[in-house]
Parts: sequence; C-alpha cells; structure tokens
Amino acid sequence: MKIIHFGKEMQQTAHALHGQGKRIGCVPTMGFLHAGHLSLVKLARERSDVVILTLFVNPTQFGPQEDLAKYPRNFERDAALCREAGVDILFAPEAPEMYAADASIYVVEEKLSRGLCGASRLGHFRGVCTVVAKLFNLCMPHVAVFGEKDAQQFRIIRRMTRDLNFPVEIVSGPTLREADGLAMSSRNTYLSADERQQALVLKRALDETARLFRAGWRDATALKTAMQKIITQAPAAKIDYIEIVDDETLEPVQTLRKPALVALAVFIGKTRLIDNIVLKA
Ligand code: AMP
Repeated sequence: MKIIHFGKEMQQTAHALHGQGKRIGCVPTMGFLHAGHLSLVKLARERSDVVILTLFVNPTQFGPQEDLAKYPRNFERDAALCREAGVDILFAPEAPEMYAADASIYVVEEKLSRGLCGASRLGHFRGVCTVVAKLFNLCMPHVAVFGEKDAQQFRIIRRMTRDLNFPVEIVSGPTLREADGLAMSSRNTYLSADERQQALVLKRALDETARLFRAGWRDATALKTAMQKIITQAPAAKIDYIEIVDDETLEPVQTLRKPALVALAVFIGKTRLIDNIVLKA
C-alpha cells in the first residue's frame, strides 16, 4: 500500500492510473477507522481496480464549538487496517496541504442542506462539499463510496456530483452496526460505558418507527412522538432533532406516501450521534 501526503503527488498518481486505463474507487473518511468504513472499501474494491482511501479530518466541516481538536486520531492503526483491507493508496494530507491560508472558494449546496444536520451544524455541508470536490479533483475517482449512516451527506454529494458534472459514480453502502444495534461511528469512543448503553435508544426508536410504519401508521407527528418517548427514557439523551423528510427532497413530510427518511441527531451526554432509516411501503 502506498501512502501519499501531498495533493500534487496524489493527482499525478491518479493521472498516471487513468493513463493505464485503471478504474479508481475512492472512499473519503476522517479516519479512526471501523468496520463501517472498511465495508465501504469492500464496495469500492468490487467496482474498481485501484482503491484510494482518503483520511482527512476536515477543519472546514467543524463548527467553532465542535470537536475538531479532540476528534479521535490514530494514523498507524488506520494505516494497518487499510493494508489489511486491501486499500491500494492511503491519501492522508495535512490541513495546510488541502487549504491555502487565503483559500476563498467554497462549494455551497442550497436546498438539501437546509434542514436536519445542516440546520444544527451551520456551514457543515459547505465544508463537506468543498472537501469532497477537492478530493475528487485530487484522486480523480471513477466511483466514490459513501455511507448511508450520513444520509443527508450522501444525498448532498450525489446532488453536487450531478450539478457540478463530476465524472464520478456515487455509490452508497448500508450502515454497519455493533451487535446490539448501535451504528458504528468514530465518535462512539467518546461515550462512557453508561452512555454507550443509553445510546441504544436511537436504534430502538428507529426500530419502533419501522414497526409502527409496517402496522400502517403514516402520520409523521405521531411517529415522531413515539420516537421522542423512547429517546427521552435515556437520562443522558438530549434531542437535537427527530425528523421525517421526503427521501428525495429532504423536505419535511406530514403524511408518509412516498419513501421517507427518518433521521435522528441526539446528544448522549456531550456526544452527538446520528442515525436514520428509510421507510417505504
Ligand atoms: P467519517 O469518517 O465519519 O467521515 O465517515 C466516512 C465515511 O464512512 C462516510 O461516507 C460515512 O457515511 C461512512 N460511515 C460512517 N459510519 C458508518 C457505518 N457505521 N457504516 C457504514 N458506513 C459508515
């Protein structure tokens, strides 16, 4: 496995691979890898000749009050996991390599990013779109794989790729979970043992919603109330949002007729966790 820290070298390598007719698959991550990330590597592997995993804790997607400085990092462990998973190139730039000190151009999505995480993390998706656009220009992938765990992010990146004509196929992978149902996340390491237990209310709330939906419930308010009841049973839980939105437009829905995205963001103690499911008849 080749490790690249510099943008120019990454771009030259990608360019050479294109010249050799290789199909490039890319998995953008912020590192502190877990099985969820590695499942995306597998999907990339199935769709390409060369797999690039990017590891970059992107400062522009963190708000001033967020956890950029304490975001978990372990480069050696991540590199070992990438090697084991069959990653061909680990692209791990430092922030000054990615952003000029006077960088002044950003990519802004104006519709899908208004609600959900976009509403509670102002500027977050501007940072995400900008860094993904830059990673596409540096890695020149034919296909890029993102997790459904970040459902809004996946939909926004798919839209950006369409609207800015990136020649990249965007693929999503399902959310990998711990045995007890908690969605895998690098941020789970922040949880104390007690909080880790309480964090199970997210999945429990989503499971209950899926059950009620199967039983014929279609009213979003009623479903959200049912989720709220379950989540507030955890004393450490503070709801950031519980939303049911159209799966395409991400606009809130009142009556579920088309595929709907049920998305949650909940603080367990100081740790903000997200999870979601898609409901379709
Ligand atoms: P992150 O390092 O958290 O920015 O995530 C990098 C990529 O991994 C994103 O596309 C995420 O959606 C995806 N991802 C994160 N957690 C999971 C999970 N539990 N299962 C599958 N993919 C995930």
